[in-house]
Amino acid sequence: MAAVFLVFALDTPNTHSLKLTWLSVVALITAFRFIDWLYWLIKLRRTKYQALGARNRVVLGVISLSLMWCIYSVVFYESMDLTELALTFAMLCTLSSGANSALSGHKKTAILYTVLLLTPASCMALFSGVTVHVFIGCLGILYNISITFSAARAADLTEEAVKLRNENKHILEKMHQEIAQNDAVHEELSQAYSQVTASKENLEKEVERRTDEIRMLSSLDPLTQLYNREAFIHQLSITAAKSIKSGHSVALLFIDLNGFKKVNDTLGHKVGDAVLVEVAGRIGAFANDYQAGRWGGDEFLMVLPYADHETAISVANALLARISQPLDVMSNQLCVSATIGIAMLPEHTSSETELIQLADFAMFEQKKLHLSEPRMFTQDLFENLKQIENLRNGLQEAISRKQLYLCYQPIVKCKTKEPWSFEALLRWNFNGNLVGPDTFIPLAEQTGLIHEIGAWVLNRACIDASQWQHSPNASVSVNVSITQLLDSDFIGILDKALNTSKLQPERLHLEITESMFADNKDKVKAKINAIKDRNVQVSIDDFGTGYSSLSQLQTLNFDTIKIDRSFVLNMHQGGEAIIRATLFIAKQFGCKTVAEGIETEQEALKLSEMGVDYLQGFLFSKPIINDELRRWVENIET
Ligand code: C2E
Ligand code: MG
Ligand code: MG
Repeated sequence: MAAVFLVFALDTPNTHSLKLTWLSVVALITAFRFIDWLYWLIKLRRTKYQALGARNRVVLGVISLSLMWCIYSVVFYESMDLTELALTFAMLCTLSSGANSALSGHKKTAILYTVLLLTPASCMALFSGVTVHVFIGCLGILYNISITFSAARAADLTEEAVKLRNENKHILEKMHQEIAQNDAVHEELSQAYSQVTASKENLEKEVERRTDEIRMLSSLDPLTQLYNREAFIHQLSITAAKSIKSGHSVALLFIDLNGFKKVNDTLGHKVGDAVLVEVAGRIGAFANDYQAGRWGGDEFLMVLPYADHETAISVANALLARISQPLDVMSNQLCVSATIGIAMLPEHTSSETELIQLADFAMFEQKKLHLSEPRMFTQDLFENLKQIENLRNGLQEAISRKQLYLCYQPIVKCKTKEPWSFEALLRWNFNGNLVGPDTFIPLAEQTGLIHEIGAWVLNRACIDASQWQHSPNASVSVNVSITQLLDSDFIGILDKALNTSKLQPERLHLEITESMFADNKDKVKAKINAIKDRNVQVSIDDFGTGYSSLSQLQTLNFDTIKIDRSFVLNMHQGGEAIIRATLFIAKQFGCKTVAEGIETEQEALKLSEMGVDYLQGFLFSKPIINDELRRWVENIET
């Protein structure tokens, strides 16, 4: 605009064409700059362009233009009148002042631009010799100096501002980067957190599941998968509490298999286990939603909430029928039966453990009677139970209160009827009532008192026998229960009794009941050998009542077999055959024989004909106290 104004407004004919040429070059440079600007504006601005090339093009354009202005002021200076000179100077000053800020982005260009624009023209005016021109030249130089400083300062400030802006931008970018990083980290963290939360929830569920599993496993009997004792009692207490709260009663069924021991003994423990699993399955299926448990061995429990007597009995009957259906176990066709005792809560007791005891007791009583129907606990049974409890308590002090004493029953030689041995039979005078050994010996075994009582009997019998002047050669037979025999102190007790009494060991016979052998074969054998090492004699008591196999008996070192009283009693109904078989076996084993329970002369005669060595029974004598033995011996001698 300024160039057009100068060329056309202040036109002089002699410079016209030259000015036009100048203007053309200026226009060309301006066009170049305009195109370069457009190129920057459209193409480069938003891209990562080559700043150095772009700057060089700008510098080139600016310097070219300032050069053109320099040429203008120098070439046309002479042709200018004062007005044109003043206007030209004004124009150049304006241009340089405009460039001051416009070119502040590049200090050297800004200064060079100002210097090229003003310095040559000002110098020419200063040295023209025309006063006004000199004055204008001075002003031009002064203006040039000040505008140069100003341009330099503006360029510094701009540079500083750009630098700061870039720095800020850098900081901002860094900040943005850090924020982005923070965001990313935050994102990762929150992802990780949700993963951790999810896995924690999973873990908690897993722990809960495992805990349930462990609780379940620890509450189940491993073989039958029914509740074990603890878990059953726990479940029973919950059911009982609920039923009592709602005013209903609970029935407890105590189920015990019959003859299970025989299955175990004859078919082996594997089949025994399989039978238990099968029966447990039947009970479990029968119990349905109610709880069923295994009390131990072949004993099972079932609880029936909201049940009265009739319901309990009919459920128990149905259960008995189900249990006794044939079983197909490991290619064995078996039939097992059971006995069930029932007790009611709260009618019979309010305690869960006592409820089980009462049902067990009812079952036990029923089993004694060999009856197949279930047995409900009754008050009579309760009285019985109380009496047994009384006896159990009384038994503890029986020795110290001197309530126990021994009776002796002679065992006589078959031919001469002379006493061969006297069997010591224990008696208990419990506050004036005579309690039989069949009642209290099992109690003593249950409570463990049998060891103390047995030791007392053995000691007493040995002392008594050592003092029998009436029968110095007769033996004393002492009954030893299997629990006593298997006690680790038994041999010590035996030695002590022999030492204290000074009784010859051959005069001591220990009677061990046959039915007890099967379970503890090896231990019994070891104990019998230890007894025999001491020259003490061993008899099998109640022979024929147990289920010992002959091969089993053969390995045991016996001296005498005592034929059970029941065979003598039933001599005419098959007993005789059994007795003959027993005598045959005894002969094979090299044992002597005693027949128990002889009550009549005929029995005695018959048995001696059959070849029995010794006889024992009421026919010869009932069990009598030690003091009466002498009289009895003297009696038979006369
Ligand atoms: P056991 O050893 O078979 O004793 C024989 C039992 O038959 C005795 O009964 C005896 O009184 C009875 N008896 C003997 N002859 C006849 C008879 O002709 N007719 C009848 N009806 N009975 C006769 P008791 O004294 O009641 O003893 C029962 C069982 O108690 C004994 O059977 C024995 O197994 C056990 N017992 C007795 N005393 C002791 C003891 O001190 N320790 C141990 N562990 N058990 C004992
Ligand atoms: Mg006996
Ligand atoms: Mg006997």
